Amino acid sequence: MKVLFLGTGTSTGVPVIGCQCDVCLSTDPKNKRLRSSILVQSESTTVLVDSCPDLRQQALSHHLTSIDAVLYTHEHLDHTAGFDEMRAFCWHREDKLPLYAGTACLQQLRRMFGWAFAAENTYKGYIRPDAHDHGGRPFSIGDIEVTPVLVQHASVETYGYVFRNGGKSFGYVPDIKTLPEDSALLLQGLDALAMDALTTREHRTHLTVADCVQLMGKLAPSRGFLTHCGHAVDYSLTCSETPDYITPAYDGMLLSL
Ligand SMILES: [Zn+2]
Ligand SMILES: [Zn+2]
Ligand SMILES: [Zn+2]
Repeated sequence: MKVLFLGTGTSTGVPVIGCQCDVCLSTDPKNKRLRSSILVQSESTTVLVDSCPDLRQQALSHHLTSIDAVLYTHEHLDHTAGFDEMRAFCWHREDKLPLYAGTACLQQLRRMFGWAFAAENTYKGYIRPDAHDHGGRPFSIGDIEVTPVLVQHASVETYGYVFRNGGKSFGYVPDIKTLPEDSALLLQGLDALAMDALTTREHRTHLTVADCVQLMGKLAPSRGFLTHCGHAVDYSLTCSETPDYITPAYDGMLLSL
């Protein structure tokens, strides 16, 4: 199983428009962050997680021309606003594009992009979602097993996911403030775990770097990655301050499991 980090930034991206801070002005490419999204790939299946506003740029950078399914964490715009860019993955397909989300997120997607979900949408080449409400229950996409992990983030229903293929496990939790105990069991002892580390100061709806490191200490993945980072997070400084098994993810990082 491979995981390609298409974007590792928070909702503003980094640099932030108009900001003159050290990280925003940094020339380190690892401090340039598009909005958060990943691609999970097995030998036969490619799953896009979230359609962020930078999807077009991400697809061009990584020569991404097709996906087998799209999976959503939650409805916030930094995870959904690139919906229309998925046209590029539908021009050449006859069948519908499998789309997986939790109940609340799917309701919002139907509202936000109603024309795509409408029965009248028979235009070949446009996005025609084959929508699946996973309702928090495990499911498979091709040969990738997916376990939804309900987390608490802002006031919207939000999921992280555990992906399993070839005996390996990878957890992805880009937006989280607190982890319910039942959900923590699902994230225990994974081969790799990428989790929200928005900033360095206490935040109302996200984990800080310190929160994330502490939580990873309990969950004990073999390798930990910080993602959904904002401009308070400097790549090399954060590398030097986190335990050896944890590093910030960066845009274009390819993880092979
Ligand atoms: Zn800044
Ligand atoms: Zn969010
Ligand atoms: Zn987000």
